[in-house]
Amino acid sequence: MSRTLQAPVTVSFDYTRSVGPVLGRFLTGLREGRLVAARTSDGRVVIPPPEFDPVTHLETDDFVEVSPTGVVTSWSWVPEPVAGQPFDRPFAFALVELDGATVPMLHALDVSSPDEVSTGMLVQVRWAEERSGLITDIACFEPVAGPDEVGDGVSGPGRARPELRDEAPTEQSRPGEATGEITTIITPVSLDYLYAASPEESAFYRGLLEGRILGQRCPTCHKVYVPPRSACPVDGVATTDEVELSDKGTVTTFCIVNVPFLGQKITPPYVSAYVLLDGADIAFLHLILDVPAEEVRMGMRVEAVWKPRDEWGTTIENISHFRPTGEPDADYDTYKQHL
Ligand SMILES: [Zn+2]
Repeated sequence: MSRTLQAPVTVSFDYTRSVGPVLGRFLTGLREGRLVAARTSDGRVVIPPPEFDPVTHLETDDFVEVSPTGVVTSWSWVPEPVAGQPFDRPFAFALVELDGATVPMLHALDVSSPDEVSTGMLVQVRWAEERSGLITDIACFEPVAGPDEVGDGVSGPGRARPELRDEAPTEQSRPGEATGEITTIITPVSLDYLYAASPEESAFYRGLLEGRILGQRCPTCHKVYVPPRSACPVDGVATTDEVELSDKGTVTTFCIVNVPFLGQKITPPYVSAYVLLDGADIAFLHLILDVPAEEVRMGMRVEAVWKPRDEWGTTIENISHFRPTGEPDADYDTYKQHL
C-alpha cells in the first residue's frame, strides 16, 4: 500500500475587533509613548489595565501611568522563533514588573543569549519607530545599560519605587500625528498546519491526478461517499468498496458570493454550490461558472471543467469549476434526500 498524502494548509483572516474604553485607553497611550495601567480595588497596579476589577467586578476607572523601566521577574528563552513572533532570531519572552506597577507584563526581551537574561535584571521599553496604537508599539524590552547611564533613583532590584503619576492628559500630539482614541484594531489571525489525508482520502487525491473521481460505498447502507470517509458516518463500518463517479452532477444548494474577502481568487459575484455527482449520496462544494450567477438554481445539471492535464496535481483544484450541461433540470425527488 502506498503512503498517505499530506499537504501544508494555511487558514488566515483579518480579525477586526472593538477594544472598548479601557484597552482603548491603554492602546491610545502606547501610540503616544505612554504606559497606562489601572489601580484595582485591592491596591494592585496592573498593565495592561483589566476592563473590570477582579474583586468588585466594577468597571475599571482609576488609571495611572507607569515607568518604561522595570525588572524581569521571570523569563523563557525562545531558541527557534516561529512566524509572527516579535523577532526572527532567538530572544526571550519576559515578565517585567514596570516601576509603578505591581503585576508584571509579558513582552519580548531583546538579548542574544540566555546568558544575558536573569531574574531581577533591569530592562526598559524600546518603542517602535512608528506607533499606531497596538501592543507592537512596544517593540520589545531591552537591558538597561550600566548603572552610570541610568537615570536617578534606579539602582537595580530592591530600589525605591517611584511615586505613581496620574495619567497625563492626551493633547500632546505632534502635527501630522494620528489623534483620537483607539476604538478598533485589526488583528491578523493565521494558522499553519500539515493536513494528513487518510488512506482512503489519499486514494481519492491520487485518483484526481488521473482525472478520476473516486468514492467509497458503505457495505451496510450502500451509500456512496465522496471524498471517502474511511467509515460510514451512519453505520460506523469501514467503507472498502471503491466506486468511480461521473464528473456530472446536480446542484443541490448554492450561494451567490457577493462580498469580497481576504484571499479571494475570483471577483464577485460568483456561485459556490453543493454538487451531487451522479452515483454519489453526498454533495461536495465547488464553483459554478460560465453562467450568470442569477441563473444558477437547485436541480441544475452541471459538469466538471478540468484544468489542462499538465496542471494536474493531487488536488480537487484539478477541476477548475462546474458549468451547466444544458440538460433539463433534475427532478426534485432525485436529490431531496441529499440537501
Ligand atoms: Zn452506511
